[in-house]
Amino acid sequence: MSDHYVKVKVQLEQMKSFGEDAEKEGVDTEGQVSVSSPPASVSPDPSSLTITGRDASNSSITCKQRGKSRSKMGKDDKNSCGKHIPDLSLHGSVISPHVGRNLNRLGHERTLHIKGTGKILQGKSENNGNYVTIHSSKNIQEARHEDGFKLARRRRPVTVDTAKAKTSLEALKLSIKQLKWKEFPLGRRAACDIYWHGVSFHDNENIVSGQVNKFPGMIEMLRKINMSRAVRTMQELFPEEYDFYPRSWILPEEYQQFSTQIRMVKENDATLNPTFIVKPDGGSQGDGIYLIRDPSDLKLMPGSQAKQAVVQEYIHKPLLIDKLKFDIRLYVLIKSMEPLEIYIAKEGLTRFCTEPYQEPSQKNLSHVFMHLTNYSLNVHSGNFVHSDSQSTGSKRTLSSVLYRLAAKGVDIKKVWSDIIALVIKTVIAVVPELKVYYQADIPPGKPGPTCFQILGFDILLMKNLKPVLLEVNSNPSMRIEHEQEVSPGVFEYVPSPVDEEVKVSVIRDTLRLMDPGNKKPSISHPRGGEEIPMEAETQERSQDEGALPSLCLKQVYPKYTKQFNYLRLVERIAVLFIRFLGVKGNMRLGPTAFRTFIRTCKLSNSNFTMASVDILYIDITRRWSGAVADSREAGMGLQAFVEAFFHLAGRRFKSLAMREQVASLLELCEAQLESQSGVEDRRSVSCSRALPRANKTQTLGLTNPQLNSPAPLRRAASQDYRLHQRLKPRTLRANVEN
Ligand code: ADP
Repeated sequence: MSDHYVKVKVQLEQMKSFGEDAEKEGVDTEGQVSVSSPPASVSPDPSSLTITGRDASNSSITCKQRGKSRSKMGKDDKNSCGKHIPDLSLHGSVISPHVGRNLNRLGHERTLHIKGTGKILQGKSENNGNYVTIHSSKNIQEARHEDGFKLARRRRPVTVDTAKAKTSLEALKLSIKQLKWKEFPLGRRAACDIYWHGVSFHDNENIVSGQVNKFPGMIEMLRKINMSRAVRTMQELFPEEYDFYPRSWILPEEYQQFSTQIRMVKENDATLNPTFIVKPDGGSQGDGIYLIRDPSDLKLMPGSQAKQAVVQEYIHKPLLIDKLKFDIRLYVLIKSMEPLEIYIAKEGLTRFCTEPYQEPSQKNLSHVFMHLTNYSLNVHSGNFVHSDSQSTGSKRTLSSVLYRLAAKGVDIKKVWSDIIALVIKTVIAVVPELKVYYQADIPPGKPGPTCFQILGFDILLMKNLKPVLLEVNSNPSMRIEHEQEVSPGVFEYVPSPVDEEVKVSVIRDTLRLMDPGNKKPSISHPRGGEEIPMEAETQERSQDEGALPSLCLKQVYPKYTKQFNYLRLVERIAVLFIRFLGVKGNMRLGPTAFRTFIRTCKLSNSNFTMASVDILYIDITRRWSGAVADSREAGMGLQAFVEAFFHLAGRRFKSLAMREQVASLLELCEAQLESQSGVEDRRSVSCSRALPRANKTQTLGLTNPQLNSPAPLRRAASQDYRLHQRLKPRTLRANVEN
């Protein structure tokens, strides 16, 4: 038998014994999972090499060695943990979870740091059953040449401004070092290629070129209420596609609805006693979260002081491992919004509760260590297990959890494809409003940077393995150390190998994807669900990267355009909205602009006069100005415009189902605009930066606010006008990382 098959066999045996372990340790999947043949779906990539210890603890020792000499590490070391990273693709397409795909690109060459000695051994490793043999090797450079890896012609190193990186600084530094790029820790007078911000787009003002790792408006968009609204809008149009988000109500404004609905549910079936989780809008890290079983238990402050929060159906049957509830932190890169490009990190983290799970009861509702998976809470529990191993402890790698489930017979292909779908759909839900923020901060024609952003998706697996979206963090923690009580009452930050393993790869590979030297020709916009054939992993690599492992980030969009493009209806509404905003930098539509929209798209008639249009505008805008926390700007925001659009669609196409109503009205509007502007193909979801060409009437309306409109409209129009005159960057409302 060749070496290669010996390795595969060893790994399969290991999987099997993992499975047995898992069974012993009580992976709570009984009766809830579709049992498939795990070894086939998780069969290792034969080209990879895993350093196999005598048992799982051996591999954890290797990780420990690595963790202690962190700053000297190369990626090859990482894989000495024998990590298996599943490949991602949608269900139905082939998924081949690669085992250590990133390993040993240079003829199985490895670098091993020996704890305590500071020595670095380089050489070829061999897996001879249970032991690792290190052969001394020739000079690493020579080996590269031998293996045909030639470094490309050197070019100017990419420059990164890290002055505002805050808590991501350490992981960022390591990434830059691995890439051999140039860091500017104190900023730089000349422009840098990349600006790394720890909090928001506005951490550095006045950036006019390069790339920034934050989108304007992302913080605002991903706050709990805004996020719930955005997903809810999509649920109205596509209820089945968006059933991954728990039913939510916004407080205090929907308190009545919430309590009436719950009362009705209980009256209909007295055996039902659902639980709800209340989350303050601006909260993070579990702050202020509590569980309730009755609307009367809400801690609402009456009147205008009432705290904004989301109350959400509590998922009471989560998947358990070792009897513990856990959630998944997945890193997602929005590489570009126009065109939309989404990448998912193949490796993520799982965060475990520290008290065995029981379904909620009046007695255990307040047990945070049982119900909330937040690291920041559980780390203070006496039961929190810091582990250098990736597959044990209270924080583990996602792959270790998936492989454990696979060994138990769980169809992890299906779980992965469901997770990918959840991510793409969620991004599609938030992009419309992000585009509005984007054009306000970087108006078309104004010099500005381009943006990308790493998001942290928090996902819960239900007992039936369905992934549920808990929230998306605009500022996921990129810390690679954790707080530890080194002696009673004394806390210190100590390196966390698990965090480092995952986060440094995510940052480094994000940088590689954003490398300005890697620019490829821009991708044409997807039309009508056409699939864009693109193999990210081959195209995105520059020749300079010969020494680096393959990307840990996998492109999922536009790769899966065909399956998801039909969901981008609201984005098309946003493109219309932005077009009629007209004046650069505004985020709200004035009454005149709304009228212009109606006129231009020919939506008024004898049954729907311009007077009715004005009433519709006032009615919807007034309601939304109470609902939206930040209503400093007068006028109609995107969410209100979407509501108005749905209303207009319902009037116009009464006999159709809602989704068709909206699609039909969009087509009608786009066709009108197309015929008027002569610009080809307005129907594609196109770039907001290129779109807003204020038409004549609109410009007149906005520069002459005192038109023949009723007094309230005139006031709003003139306010609109003033706002356009003094546009300031939006202030930050959050300064936290999660
Ligand atoms: P935060 O931003 O404060 O972390 P999250 O929405 O992530 O708020 O909720 C905190 C924790 O509460 C989650 O990590 C998860 O363990 C739990 N949780 C949140 N929403 C739900 C839900 N709908 N059902 C079950 N558990 C939930």
